Amino acid sequence: MNMQATTDNLKALDQAHHFHPFTDFHDYAERGGRVFSRAEHIYIYTSDGHRMLDGMSGLWCCNLGYSQQGIVDAVTAQLQNLPYYNNFFQCSNQPAIELARALVEVTEERFNHVFFTNSGSEANDTNLRLVNRYYQLQGRPEKKLIISRNNAYHGSTIAAASLGGMKGMHEQTNGLDYVHHIDQPHWFEVAGLDETPDDFGRRVARQLEEKIDELGEANVAAFIAEPVQGAGGVIIPPDTYWPEIQRICDERDILLIADEVICGFGRTGSWFGSQTFGIRPDLMTFAKAVTNGYQPLGGVMISDKVADVLLASPGEFTHGLTYSGHPTAAAAGLATLKVLRETDIISSAAANLAPHLQSRLRELEDHPIVGQVRGRGMFAAVELVRDKSSRERLADKSAAAVFCRNTANELGLMVRQTGDAMIMAPPLVSSVAELDDLVEMLHKALDLTAKQFG
Ligand code: PLP
Repeated sequence: MNMQATTDNLKALDQAHHFHPFTDFHDYAERGGRVFSRAEHIYIYTSDGHRMLDGMSGLWCCNLGYSQQGIVDAVTAQLQNLPYYNNFFQCSNQPAIELARALVEVTEERFNHVFFTNSGSEANDTNLRLVNRYYQLQGRPEKKLIISRNNAYHGSTIAAASLGGMKGMHEQTNGLDYVHHIDQPHWFEVAGLDETPDDFGRRVARQLEEKIDELGEANVAAFIAEPVQGAGGVIIPPDTYWPEIQRICDERDILLIADEVICGFGRTGSWFGSQTFGIRPDLMTFAKAVTNGYQPLGGVMISDKVADVLLASPGEFTHGLTYSGHPTAAAAGLATLKVLRETDIISSAAANLAPHLQSRLRELEDHPIVGQVRGRGMFAAVELVRDKSSRERLADKSAAAVFCRNTANELGLMVRQTGDAMIMAPPLVSSVAELDDLVEMLHKALDLTAKQFG
């Protein structure tokens, strides 16, 4: 088979018929793309035979890489036994039941219930349904305003995009008017050298208190945030940020929702980002790495505080998806949790890989076009600048970071660009030598970017 001819044909068909998510159609038509045909360990292969080191774990989901035979076997066996049945109308299935139990076991004690969805976006929609029901059942229907953060990403349905704080998405979304936003804890972008990270962390957290006062505590239902904003640019909050947010949520009568879609299942060094940052959420969104990305599955962990109110009241919770608790997706989730529980992948990545990745990346802070390297556990961002102290950017509209990303891709490294930052989240099963390769390819891409834009 002529691989190039096949690839050209696939690319032509793709351009002709396939509307891609989060894609500038003009740019795609001009530059073309890549067709992936197989993957192994932490490497992805295009249909014309190019190998790339996947520095993004797919879309932050293949934390265990691409060669988990146990998950493949579990999915295959489930497809042979019960490929589908729903969980509506008092029906259930064994993988969904066992996955619910396993999730309860790996999360904090106050979580004893789970609602399954297919995705993180639907899980965040579910949060809004749960929060509404929680307050309605208590006779407080006016408590319906939600506070989120600028530049957050919580998914792509109308509700999830409204919760998110990305300007470009809001421009194209006729969003919900009951969602309000405060600043993100992005010290480098917002405060820079003019304020210590700790002072900035406290100040920006107190915006939550100010927003609650402005909107009226009696009207505010919940605050939603990722422990670390991922798609927004791996924004690691200053140490003072989460304790202050938690204090405010404890003192005020609002629910705290942690969106763990990226942070969950080992990314930050613990099972969940909430543990890494000492957060005690009432609701917790998960998706992505729960199945290692092999099947679509998301959901919400529901604390006893919320579940007790819903369970105590008669009347239907009028929310559900055809594939909520899909047996095959649940089988993938169970098999993934089995790997995570029966191996030391999370703790060993935290103890051995993460410190190596973070210290190797921090060496790049000496590079003339790097303004800041930030990261925690197995994800990080490298922010590009022309001038380190003034934070002047290299080029308009993130052109330098886009160039750097494209260059890294050509060198065989899959990383992402957000604004002026290069972001990466390699699989937790990478080796130290593979992380060195990642840093070296990124370094080369930075050199070439400096040559082009410096
Ligand atoms: N929440 C966060 C923090 C995410 O990063 C994402 C996706 O990247 C989502 C929600 C949406 O998840 P999904 O794409 O599965 O709908």
